[in-house]
Amino acid sequence: MFDLGSEHRKVQEVAREVAAKVQPFAAEADEAVTVHHGCLDALRNSGLARYVVPAAYGGHDEVLDPLTLAVVREALMYSSAHLDSMFGMQGVGSYSLSVGGAEELKQEWLPKVATLDAIAGLALTEPDVGSDLRAITTTMVADGDELVVNGRKSFITNGGAADFYCTLVREDEGWSMVLVPAATPGLGIERGADLMAPHILGELTFTDVRVPANHRLGVPGKAFSLMLQTLAVFRVTVAASGVGLAQAALDEAKQHALSREQFGAPLIELGAVSQKLAQSWTDVEAARAFVYRAAALAKSDPLGHLDYSSMAKVHATEAAAQVVDRSVQTMGRFGLVRGSKIERLYRNARPLRVYEGATEVLLDSLARRLAKGAR
Ligand SMILES: Cc1cc2nc3c(=O)[nH]c(=O)nc-3n(C[C@H](O)[C@H](O)[C@H](O)COP(=O)(O)OP(=O)(O)OC[C@H]3O[C@@H](n4cnc5c(N)ncnc54)[C@H](O)[C@@H]3O)c2cc1C
Repeated sequence: MFDLGSEHRKVQEVAREVAAKVQPFAAEADEAVTVHHGCLDALRNSGLARYVVPAAYGGHDEVLDPLTLAVVREALMYSSAHLDSMFGMQGVGSYSLSVGGAEELKQEWLPKVATLDAIAGLALTEPDVGSDLRAITTTMVADGDELVVNGRKSFITNGGAADFYCTLVREDEGWSMVLVPAATPGLGIERGADLMAPHILGELTFTDVRVPANHRLGVPGKAFSLMLQTLAVFRVTVAASGVGLAQAALDEAKQHALSREQFGAPLIELGAVSQKLAQSWTDVEAARAFVYRAAALAKSDPLGHLDYSSMAKVHATEAAAQVVDRSVQTMGRFGLVRGSKIERLYRNARPLRVYEGATEVLLDSLARRLAKGAR
C-alpha cells in the first residue's frame, strides 16, 4: 500500500530479525517488570537504538526519522511489548535531551543511550495528574549553580531501571524540563503498579534533589515546546506499535481458523469467521498505510503534521483493539486461555489507547483544530 524505500526495508529486516530472536522468550519478557536481559541483549546487539539518537552523538541519522522508528516499532511489537517499550522509551525518554540539552550533557548521555548502556526515562505524570499536565505540582527552583527539585512522579516507564529521567516541573509561573540522573541523592524510586499488561513502572519521589544548572533542558518555562517536539516525532511510532500488535493478532486468528474444523470444514470457511478475518485484514492494512504516510510527513515537518500523527495514533490503536477482540472471538474458548499468545496480545493492546495521549484527549484536541479551520 505504501512503498518503503530500500533504506527503510533494510532497517525493517534488522528489526524483524531482532523480533524473531526474542520470539521464543517473548511471553516471559512480556511478564517482566524489570529489564529482561534477553531483550536488552538482542536490541543492543542489533544497533537499532542508534536510530533514536542524532548522528552527532553516536546515533544513525542526523535528524531522527519517524518512519524508520515506526517501521522498527511495528516489527518489535509484533513479537513483544517489552521489546517495543525498551526501544521506544530510549527515544521518548531522551528526545528532550537531544533537542534542548547543554552540549556537555548530550555528550555525557546520548552516546550511551544509542548503545543502550544508559536507559532513558521521561517523568511527566504525577499521582494526581495525568492528561492535564499543566496541573503538575512538582517544583524546581534555582539555587546558585544548582537546580532543586521537589515532588512526585507516577507510572513512569523504566522507573527503577533508567539511568536518568527527563522530568517535567513547575518553575515560577511556567513549566520546565530537567534531567535528573537516577543516582542523584534525594531521588527515591519504588516499584509501580502491577498492570494487566506487565510493564517496567516506577513511582519517583524527589526530596530536595539537587542537580547542576546545566541539567536544565530547553528554555526556562517553555517545557511544553520540548514535549510537543517529542510527540511530533514519537506519537506516530505508538501507532506503529498498534499495527504490529494487530498484525500478530490477525496472524494468530488466521492460523487457528485454517487449522480448526467445525461442522466438517475449517473455521475460515464459515461466513461469519471469514468476514471477521477479512475485516481485520482491511483494518490492519488501512492502519499501516495511514501510519507510514503520517510518519513520512512527520519526517519533513514534525510539528506541522502533528494532527496526522494524532489521527494515526487514534486510528491504529483503536483498530488494534478491534482486531485483537475479533481474533479472540474467532478462536472461541482457545482465545480465552490465560498464558496463550492471543490472551497476551489482548492485554498488551489495552494500554496503547491510554498512554502518550488517550484516544479521547487526542480527539478532543483534533476537534478543536478542526473547528479552527485545520484540514
Ligand atoms: C503502561 C503505561 C506507561 C506509562 N508510562 C509513562 C511514562 O513513562 N511517563 C509518564 O509521565 N507517564 C506515563 N504513563 C502515564 C500516562 O501518560 C497517563 O496514563 C496518561 O497521560 C493518561 O493519564 P491518566 O491515566 O491519569 O488518565 P486521566 O487524565 O485521569 O484521564 C482518564 C480518561 O479520561 C478521559 N479524558 C481525560 N482528559 C480528557 C479530555 N481533555 N478530553 C476528553 N477525554 C478526556 C480519557 O478517556 C482518559 O483515558 C504511563 C501509563 C501507562 C498505562
